[in-house]
This record gives sequence, structure tokens and C-alpha cells, in this order.
Amino acid sequence: MTDFDTQLAAELAALAAAGLRRELRRVDSAAGTRVRVGGRELLNFSANDYLGLAQHPALKEAAVKAVEQYGAGSGASRLVCGSLAVHHELEEVLAAFKGTEAALSFSTGFAAAQGAIVALLDKGDVLIVDKLVHACIVDAAKVCGASLRVFRHNDLNDLEAKLEWAAKQRSAGSGQRSARILVVTESVFSMDGDLAPLRDIVELKERFGAWLMVDEAHGTGLFGERRSGLVEEFGLTGRMEIQMATLGKALGAAGGAICGSRQLVDLLVNRARSLVFSTAPAPAAAAAARAGVAIIQSQEGETRRQRLWLLVEELKRALIGAGLPPSAVRAPIVPVVVGAESRAMALSGALREAGVFVPAIRFPTVARGAARLRFTVSAAHTAEDLIELRGALATVGNRQSAMANA
Ligand SMILES: *Cc1c(COP(=O)(O)O)cnc(C)c1O
Repeated sequence: MTDFDTQLAAELAALAAAGLRRELRRVDSAAGTRVRVGGRELLNFSANDYLGLAQHPALKEAAVKAVEQYGAGSGASRLVCGSLAVHHELEEVLAAFKGTEAALSFSTGFAAAQGAIVALLDKGDVLIVDKLVHACIVDAAKVCGASLRVFRHNDLNDLEAKLEWAAKQRSAGSGQRSARILVVTESVFSMDGDLAPLRDIVELKERFGAWLMVDEAHGTGLFGERRSGLVEEFGLTGRMEIQMATLGKALGAAGGAICGSRQLVDLLVNRARSLVFSTAPAPAAAAAARAGVAIIQSQEGETRRQRLWLLVEELKRALIGAGLPPSAVRAPIVPVVVGAESRAMALSGALREAGVFVPAIRFPTVARGAARLRFTVSAAHTAEDLIELRGALATVGNRQSAMANA
């Protein structure tokens, strides 16, 4: 081996020794409720396609039509010749859906977060984030050069302390413009399935003259009367500077979006580097996302959401029945925290043997020693799927207790 490969091999070996090495698992089917992996069909409880729209005929048809009309690729960055009608149509629909003046779409949610945070903050500014925010926000903090402060998960007292600190920094500052303070949280936390106390966070940020960005990756499509997200459910649309959405979860397509004022979007068109220096999203993805929003806004969206919540309750009952009680959550993300990385891996492996695909989530996605099985449900799951899951859980539970008694 070359020195290069020897070094990398040592790093991989260290990951393996710590039980943290990851590998890509090839899926030979669509990522629906049943997936073909390694020649076997597995029941899938791992996707973020909560409303089952990724396989919906209307989204597929919209994607195919967009390919026929615009081609496979969009040709260039949005600022060159890539700003196709399909992107503008998607953005109009997203702004209306989220109740904002404007919206801007990105190739991924990761790029949307990066683009917005790096555009708005600079050295001398302060970024305050919940301890459990997604990696795309943490990485943006590093790139933008602002001081980063992390508050304990959903802890309003700690957030207030961080805001007090930031306000002091601001009054001491002597830059060209007044220092900015941006608070970022998720609305529905991706690995825990719990909700942020958004009303109290809004009160706090207003008291300190800070701005707020809410990542609705897992709230969009599921909460609020119009199903646009938790910000809508809490009646906070007009009090939020930046709403972020992903288009690859409940919306069933791929991409990300920032929704807010016209000024915000106009500034991002100039300053969001992940938009300016990146090829525009594929036409098929934009068209599918637009079709996804249309379904969510229709009666079918409400029917799918209600079915999803019913299935979530059934899943929780099945897990409790199998001695694997999940955290108390209000989302289609149902984590069973088991602690040790090795135990999570063993349970996930045993469930796969029994025909069910549920990922073990480990460090660095979650804290060390807080490894978990992360079950997610889709409105596309059937009653039989849940019965089959109960059977698999019973098999695994029996095997576990047999092993414990041996
Ligand atoms: C998935 C996710 C993202 C990133 O979105 P992609 O479109 O997958 O890049 C950002 N934030 C949260 C909370 C997410 O779960």
C-alpha cells in the first residue's frame, strides 16, 4: 500500500475498532416501504418519505414531464442560464405554501442552510444553535466565521444566557455594521423526534433583537392546518426571519429551500455561495417537489397525514409490546435509545435477519453512548407491514432473552 492508503486504512481500522465504521448498503429497488437489499426483501422503517410521496404517480409523472421539457440537467448555475421556469414555479408554490413573500430553492437542504448562514453572518457576528441541530448548520458556523454558541437542547434558560452574552458582544463591537445575532433550531429534531418550544424561542429572540432561522426538514408537510410546518401550527409565520425546508423528506423529491421576505431571497441570490457557484437543481427534482407540495395542500395530503399519525401510534404500541419503549415523541421519527453502539448494531442486525430494515444511529450523528434504533413510518405502510413488524420484534425479543439466559 502507498503511504496515503496506509494512513487511511489505519483511520478506518480505528473506526471499526470503536464500532463506528459505516458502509454504504446497496439497495436494488426503489426506496419504498419494501426494499431489496443483498438479494432479500426487507420491510423498510428507515426512510424520511413520511407521506409516501417519493413513489407517488403524480410526482413521477411531473419529473418525467420536466425531463421531456427541460432535459436531464439544468445546464448552469441559477445566475447564468440555469434559472428555469420550473424553478420559479416551484418557488412561487413554496412561498404560498409557507405563507412567506418569497422562496429560493437549492439543490439540497444542506446547501440551503450553508448558503443562508454564510450569506448572512460574518466575523464579529454571533450564531447561537441548539445542541442537536443538523451537521449542515454546524458546518456553516465554521465557514461563516461568526462566533458559535451552543445552547443545551430545548433549554430556554441556557438560550437566554447565550443571548445575553451575544448582546454584550454587540454593544462592545465597533464594526462597520451592527453585529448580527442569529439563533438556529430545528422545529422537529431529526434524531430524537421531539419539538422545539418555538413560541418561547421567538419571544426570547425578539427581546434581544436577534434573528431566528428554523430548519423545518422534518416539520414540513406534517404540522399545521395547511400542513406547511410547525411554524404555521404555532402561528409564528410573520415573526420568523428565515424558514428552511427540505424537499427530500415529506415532499418526496430532493432539494432544499429558504422561505422568507423578498429582501432575504434577493440577498441570497447575490450572496449564497452554494447557489451562486453551483449548478441549478435538476428540473425533474424541482418539478417533483412542486407536485409534492400540491398533493400536501390537497385533501389527499390531509388523508395521508392522518394515516401517518395512526401508524405512528401503532408503531409505538408495537415497540412497547416488544420491550423496546421509544422516547415520547410527536413525530414520525420514533427513536429507541439503547445506549451502547454495539447493542444498537446488534439489534439492527437482528431485525434485518428477521426481515426489517431499521438503522442503528451512532456517533457522530448522535452523542457517544446514545446510540439508537431510529424507526420512521410512512403513510404508505400498510396494516400488514405493521403486523409483520410485530412478528419480527417478537422474534428478536425472544432471541435476546434466550441469549441473556444462556
Ligand atoms: C436532512 C436534513 C437536512 C439536509 O437536507 P438534505 O436535503 O438532505 O441535504 C438539513 N437539516 C435537517 C434537520 C435534516 O434532517
